[in-house]
Amino acid sequence: MDFKLSEKHLLLQRAIREFAEKSIAPRVAEMEETQEFPEDLISEMGKLGLLGLIIPTQYGGTDMGFLARVLALEQISLVSAAAGMTLQTHHTGLAAILDHGSEEQKQKYLPRLSGGESLAALAVTEPSGGSDLMGMQSTARPEGDHYVANGRKCFISNSHLAKIHSVVLRTGEGSKGLSIFVVEAGTPGFRPGRKEHKCGLLGVNTGELILQDCRIPKENLIAGEGAGLRAVLKTISEVGRSGMAATALGIIGASLEKAVQFSKDRVLYGKPIANLQGIQWLVAEIYSDLEIARLLCYRAGWLRDEGKRCDVEATLAKAFTCEAAVRAARNAVSIYGGYGIMKEYDVQRYLRDALTCVPADGTADISKVILARHALS
Ligand SMILES: Cc1cc2nc3c(=O)[nH]c(=O)nc-3n(C[C@H](O)[C@H](O)[C@H](O)COP(=O)(O)OP(=O)(O)OC[C@H]3O[C@@H](n4cnc5c(N)ncnc54)[C@H](O)[C@@H]3O)c2cc1C
Repeated sequence: MDFKLSEKHLLLQRAIREFAEKSIAPRVAEMEETQEFPEDLISEMGKLGLLGLIIPTQYGGTDMGFLARVLALEQISLVSAAAGMTLQTHHTGLAAILDHGSEEQKQKYLPRLSGGESLAALAVTEPSGGSDLMGMQSTARPEGDHYVANGRKCFISNSHLAKIHSVVLRTGEGSKGLSIFVVEAGTPGFRPGRKEHKCGLLGVNTGELILQDCRIPKENLIAGEGAGLRAVLKTISEVGRSGMAATALGIIGASLEKAVQFSKDRVLYGKPIANLQGIQWLVAEIYSDLEIARLLCYRAGWLRDEGKRCDVEATLAKAFTCEAAVRAARNAVSIYGGYGIMKEYDVQRYLRDALTCVPADGTADISKVILARHALS
């Protein structure tokens, strides 16, 4: 067992942190204000190879792999979890095509998703309940060389920004009745609906997607009719959850950096508050959460690079890290005293962002259902 990162990974970590400090940090206030993700940052991430991190070079990607993705998301999310979430969602949306698409679909879409021309999204959740996939009501029925789709998706990240959407629709009854389609922005009958106003991850564009007699060409069906449930569960569990975990990991790291700095700078009773044992316990808790979460996140990325199944490990990483991020940010807010809830200090943003990470890609309860099923089997 080797816990050392390779030279390639260490270089990547440094390069991404520099990029995040230089290009993303100055835009955080703007994202908080506008609740939009700056579009020019998408092309910058494309030029850096971040959009195509998990895409093989033959489709225009940088093929750095999933551990590299975790490292990149962690570094970006130290500065802005909203930027991390935007990027991780893009990877998740394109992974549906990468893992389950035909050669023609990969050749058609992946190069566009590597370079910054387009972001991807994965649209599963509906108003009828995100945890209840079988309750999905949006439909696609075959008609000639097309499917005609109707329905509504909600809470979709990158909804208004993405040009290429992997959309799950009902094509039949029961668990063999779900299918995934690539739907391009601008397809007649397909449009973004309302934008959500979240309490955290404000820079992430989250909203509805509406299908109204939308004609989707049959060649846009991914993995075959009825194969959608299995395929999308793999995409969510292995790519979505490891991405959410890495995003939340960045929040824990940022909480530790701020907590340490503030507790050394803030003087009470003539000494830095870092000397108070109560403050040290809070710092120790954030530090422990960071170290445990990091191991879980890196393991999930490494397993996927090894070509091994990592659905349970990624679910565990996501469940632990998102809850730990809430704890870490809450501890950082406590250390700041009254300053902690003031808008000019970042720690309140970390807490709002961490809370917003928890339900995305499956709630804490759904993670427990999966982990219990695994432990009991
Ligand atoms: C920031 C953000 C980004 C998101 N991005 C996307 C996206 O890009 N694409 C997408 O498709 N979706 C996205 N979602 C939706 C997300 O996947 C859903 O919110 C999530 O799956 C929960 O669905 P729901 O909100 O409908 O809650 P519900 O499914 O209605 O759950 C309500 C409550 O019931 C609990 N519950 C449900 N089932 C069980 C059970 N079996 N046992 C115990 N408790 C249970 C839940 O844990 C929860 O507490 C996003 C959500 C957020 C917050």
